[in-house]
Amino acid sequence: YAAKSRKRHWKIYSEDLNKNALEHLAIANKLQNAIDKQQFQLFYQPIIKASNNSIHGAEVLLRWKQADGSYIPPDTFIPIAEQSTLIHDITCWVIKQAIEDLAILDKQGFTGCLHINLSAKDLHNNMLLTCLDKIAAKVTPQRIIFEVTESAMMTDIKQATKVMVELVNSGFAFSLDDFGTGFSSFPLLRDLPIEQIKIDRSFVINMASHEANQSIVRSIIFLAKSLNCTVVAEGVEDNTSIGLLQVMGCHYLQGYFFSRPVSLEQYQQLLDALPPASSESHQTRLNSF
Ligand code: C2E
Ligand code: MG
Ligand code: MG
Ligand code: MG
Repeated sequence: YAAKSRKRHWKIYSEDLNKNALEHLAIANKLQNAIDKQQFQLFYQPIIKASNNSIHGAEVLLRWKQADGSYIPPDTFIPIAEQSTLIHDITCWVIKQAIEDLAILDKQGFTGCLHINLSAKDLHNNMLLTCLDKIAAKVTPQRIIFEVTESAMMTDIKQATKVMVELVNSGFAFSLDDFGTGFSSFPLLRDLPIEQIKIDRSFVINMASHEANQSIVRSIIFLAKSLNCTVVAEGVEDNTSIGLLQVMGCHYLQGYFFSRPVSLEQYQQLLDALPPASSESHQTRLNSF
């Protein structure tokens, strides 16, 4: 009887596995044509200057639109794209589209930076450099910040550093995304040309009522400032957290309290309603790289 029930459990487990594998395959197949079929869309989430509540810039967030009007979130399809070279095509598409959108925003008087997320895989070969080379004439590197996570660097630190240094020398900047959830490695912070740290939203979302998270956020801000990095708190959802973050000296705020990620058109409306601060090109932190 025991053996029989074990067998039954195994069957359920195996059906689950098959279902996931099939779903995965279905997504991987559809993903191949998503660029050609123009199913990708960029959303923008404002990044706010903590000192005066002006719009400092925006994070570019990718959305995959389905035929029925729904969206598959990036956390679902980016990991699948990362299993092939498709991720490079997607990253390159995002960069090109964001730069076109930036030109539209600039006509409206926008002077801020766009934050573009890179995948770990993008730093492990020269695809990113090739992509940027091709569109070099259209890009102002000082207006672009690439967001990377620590895991991106850990796999092949030598190659990742090479790509980052080359891009920093061209005028781009790097922000360390989701800081605090990964390795929080001090050697990485010390050795890589990072000019900004983004505190992971898991520490920020409930910080108003969570003492330990407040201590962690305060410490990350102190660490970032000691390293001459700017700091962004992501996941700002309430007014109490904003007050705390301002007292702690956090430079920039991002979260649902200000705005969810919105379409380009809606972002333009936000800019109209809340004018951006004067000039917000990033300054290069270290010239020695
Ligand atoms: P991320 O880079 O850490 O982006 C921030 C995520 O937090 C976004 O989720 C954003 O919608 C969400 N968020 C912002 N404010 C709040 C808040 O106040 N509360 C809560 N609960 N969430 C907030 P999204 O857009 O679903 O993106 C998820 C992840 O997918 C991103 O995390 C990033 O790692 C990845 N991703 C998004 N776009 C791209 C892309 O173009 N390329 C690559 N490689 N990855 C991307
Ligand atoms: Mg990000
Ligand atoms: Mg993040
Ligand atoms: Mg993330």
